[in-house]
Amino acid sequence: PPRVFSGIKPSGGLTLGNYLGAIKPWVGMQGPSYQTIYCVVDLHAITVWQEPAELADGTREIAAGMLAAGIDPEKSILFNQARVPEHTQLAWIFNCVARVGWMNRMTQFKDKAGENAEAVSLGLYAYPSLMAADILLYHATHVPVGEDQKQHVELTRDIAAKFNHDFGREFFPLTEAVIEGPGMRIMNLRDGTKKMSKSGESDMERINMLDDADTIAKKFKKAKSDPEPLPEEVSALAGRPEAKNLVAIYASLSDQSTEAVLAEFGGEGWGKFKPALADLAVEKLAPISGEMRRLMDDKAEIDSMLERGAERAREIARPILRETYEIVGLQYS
Ligand code: ATP
Ligand code: MG
Repeated sequence: PPRVFSGIKPSGGLTLGNYLGAIKPWVGMQGPSYQTIYCVVDLHAITVWQEPAELADGTREIAAGMLAAGIDPEKSILFNQARVPEHTQLAWIFNCVARVGWMNRMTQFKDKAGENAEAVSLGLYAYPSLMAADILLYHATHVPVGEDQKQHVELTRDIAAKFNHDFGREFFPLTEAVIEGPGMRIMNLRDGTKKMSKSGESDMERINMLDDADTIAKKFKKAKSDPEPLPEEVSALAGRPEAKNLVAIYASLSDQSTEAVLAEFGGEGWGKFKPALADLAVEKLAPISGEMRRLMDDKAEIDSMLERGAERAREIARPILRETYEIVGLQYS
């Protein structure tokens, strides 16, 4: 079956955006149609400063979140990136395939570097090259991600195509991003034009998977909205980013279309919709966060699960890296 690869950085606690845009669709892809490989991408996290003492626990927390949400380590290969050194080995080769001009077009780098582009790490700049290695090390053809990662998956195709062209072999597949449904771009609760991020400045701008019911209710209550009631038509959400986002969250959490949500709530005010949204979020998230906390109590169990996953990942990765080295003309033992 075609291979699926995707990952999440331990750069903070999991958010509702990570859940709806990534983990929830990943759970649905498990099964006979795909071989699913999911990774806690700890090497990506250190592109910005991480406290060493927190990084290892952060890695376990992301893994616990994936398990609690339904990633099954029997059906999927689940591991952390640092346990599989082939990722960085392939990334170096891709650093020599990718062009500086390609990296300069990456909007995520511009967003994350901000005004300070000279002072950020070289790793942050080269990040998309490591991401291409994560994917192509497994010859993965499908990458389920949120919309913010679309440009990086396109760059992965560019790297694969240039490698294949330069070395005259159709070796790496041209990977496709899988981006579907209303949960693919969850926005910041205080500013509907920015995405919700685990590393964003204010805790009030995001729902964390580990937030308790009161915190979730408070965050939705304080979430920015607008003075108009909810519209009857999806087209009327245009130009209303905060309204659009809150409706999309409801739709994604309840597995409904935006149309269906507006059929129910169109014409209602925020005083009715926001508490309904908070109740729905608590209903869906509480079982996951409860299970996450339980799993996080047993660090040794998570670590050995990640170790087993890494061994399975390396079985696929090693021969692909070996062949890559041969194609390039590198000697390898
Ligand atoms: P950071 O702020 O550190 O970049 P993040 O919240 O953006 O953290 P990532 O680890 O970069 O999380 O991304 C993990 C996955 O979650 C990716 O597939 C990404 O597309 C998805 N994702 C992240 N934020 C959102 C969002 N707001 N809506 C939908 N999907 C998202
Ligand atoms: Mg991100």
